[in-house]
Amino acid sequence: MEVKQQVAVITGGARGIGRATALELARQGARVVINYATSRKEAERLVAEIKAQGGEAVEHQANVASLEEAYGLVERALELFGTVDILVNNAGITRDNLLLRMKEEEWDQVIEVNLKGVFNCTKACLRPMLKQRRGRIINISSVIGLAGNAAQANYAAAKAGIIGFTKAMARELAARGITVNAVAPGFIATDMTASLPAEIQEEYRRRIPLGRPGTPADVARVVAFLASPAADYITGEVIRVDGGLAI
Ligand code: NAP
Repeated sequence: MEVKQQVAVITGGARGIGRATALELARQGARVVINYATSRKEAERLVAEIKAQGGEAVEHQANVASLEEAYGLVERALELFGTVDILVNNAGITRDNLLLRMKEEEWDQVIEVNLKGVFNCTKACLRPMLKQRRGRIINISSVIGLAGNAAQANYAAAKAGIIGFTKAMARELAARGITVNAVAPGFIATDMTASLPAEIQEEYRRRIPLGRPGTPADVARVVAFLASPAADYITGEVIRVDGGLAI
C-alpha cells in the first residue's frame, strides 16, 4: 500500500475528514496540496505539522464552487510538484432544513459546493491525469446519498449526485488509466456533526452497529487505500465507512 511521491490534492483539507486524509497520505509519502476555503490558520498549521514529520505539503486557498479557482488549485499543484496523481474531492457543507422551509439559497449553496465542486475540481485535474495516463479520483459522498434523510434533501441530492458522477467518470476514464471511486461515510466526529442537536447525535450513536461514531482517520485510511496500488482493480465503487449504520 504505497502512495510514495505521488501528488495528492485534497479539497477542504484543513479540517475534519480532509485533514485526516492529508495526514494519512503524507504519512505514506505523498506530496499533499491542502485546499481550504476559510480555514487559513488550520491549513498553515497542518502544513507545518506535515513538514515537521518530514513530509511535503502546501496550502492553497480556493472556493471549489468556482471553476476558475478549481483550476487555480490544480495549477498550484502543477507549478510546485509537476503533476497531480490523486484528487480527493472532500469539501462539503450542510444547510439542513425541511423542504417546506428550505430557502432556494440553501439548496443552491449545497449543490454548488458539494456537487459542482466535484465537477470543477475533477475537470481541472483531467488534463494532467490524461496526459500521464494515470490517476486516482476519490469522491467523498455520504450514506445520506444512499439512504436519504429528512431535512437534508439538498445534501442527499448532492451526495447521490456524486455517486452518479463517480460511476459515469469511472466508465469515461477507465481506458485512460484513471480510477474513480466514492467513499460514503456515516456519522463521523467532526465539526459538521458536532453542530447537530445533542438528541440527533445520540440517536445516530444508538443506530451504529459497531457502537461508536467514526473518526476522521477511519475514513482517511479507506481513502488512502483507494489511492494506493492495492486498489488498482477497483473503479466505480462506493465504499461505506459507517460502522454498519446504513446496513
Ligand atoms: P467539516 O469538518 O465541516 O469540514 C468541511 C470542509 O469543507 C472544511 O475543510 C471546509 O474548508 C471545506 N469547505 C467547505 N466549503 C468549501 C468551499 N466552498 N471550498 C473549499 N472547501 C470548502 O466536515 P467533515 O465532516 O470533515 O466533512 C468532509 C466531507 O465529508 C464533506 O464532504 C461531508 O459532506 C462528508 N461527510 C461527512 C460526514 C460526517 O459525519 N462528518 C458524513 C458523511 C460525509 P474551510 O474550513 O477552509 O472553509
